[in-house]
Amino acid sequence: MVTGKIAVVTGASRGIGRAIALKLASEGAKVIVNYNGSKDRALEVKQKIEENGGSAEIYQCDVSDFEKCEAFITDIIRQWGRIDILVNNAGITRDGLLMKMSEEDFNKVLDTNLKGAFNTIRFASRQMLKQRSGRIINMASVVGVTGNAGQVNYAASKAGIIGLTKAAARELALRGVTVNAIAPGFIETDMTKELTEKVKENSVSQIPLGKFGKPEHVAAAAAFLASEEAEYITGQVLHVDGGMVM
Ligand code: NAP
Repeated sequence: MVTGKIAVVTGASRGIGRAIALKLASEGAKVIVNYNGSKDRALEVKQKIEENGGSAEIYQCDVSDFEKCEAFITDIIRQWGRIDILVNNAGITRDGLLMKMSEEDFNKVLDTNLKGAFNTIRFASRQMLKQRSGRIINMASVVGVTGNAGQVNYAASKAGIIGLTKAAARELALRGVTVNAIAPGFIETDMTKELTEKVKENSVSQIPLGKFGKPEHVAAAAAFLASEEAEYITGQVLHVDGGMVM
């Protein structure tokens, strides 16, 4: 359980982030639902949490912007006095073959997926060290471990997340702050909706459990890593991928 904890979830307006926000709120956390462009979707998440008897706020911030992240995290600390759980979930894809990929598409994915996590951790970790407690959970991907044709930018960002997670875990461990990553496989969200039927069929054939996962499967793993029960787990990458990578 995470009763009474202050939890920040980036990219919580849709997909996996939304499911994590709902799950943490259902287990008693006050959740800050971060979004970038989808304000209505973020408001819907807040409403749903409140309907279920939970507590939530929405907060717009483009996580790729260092200064905006400083303001975001500082505001949360000023308002709520602490940050107990930080879930760096915001992420994008801009797929394309290596030889055709634009510099902009490479940078945009790295700036959002990797630098975005650095930006929030950079400011939240100081508060967590002061508290001598905290849970940081970063969203990686199986692709960060295996690579994937057409995704050099995305795979690099997710491999980077794994390195960032392990280095931060070592730096913050002595003050009771844990840092872990989750590596989802194929999860049913807007991100995978775009895939053609052929690609989906091919993907399912590589999943031992024989189907795509749901955002709630990832949310359950995040809630565990955020809980008191996970206090002796740090620097790990938890795969939620139906057995794709073993
Ligand atoms: P999604 O449905 O496309 O949702 C992405 C979320 O990220 C949205 O809430 C979006 O907010 C937010 N976001 C994007 N850019 C942002 C920015 N600059 N600042 C703040 N928020 C931003 O994606 P998803 O499938 O749920 O993926 C969530 C995470 O899991 C990502 O890190 C993704 O790489 C990872 N993942 C997903 C899968 C999968 O199969 N779906 C597999 C492995 C890993 P707005 O809509 O408000 O802009």
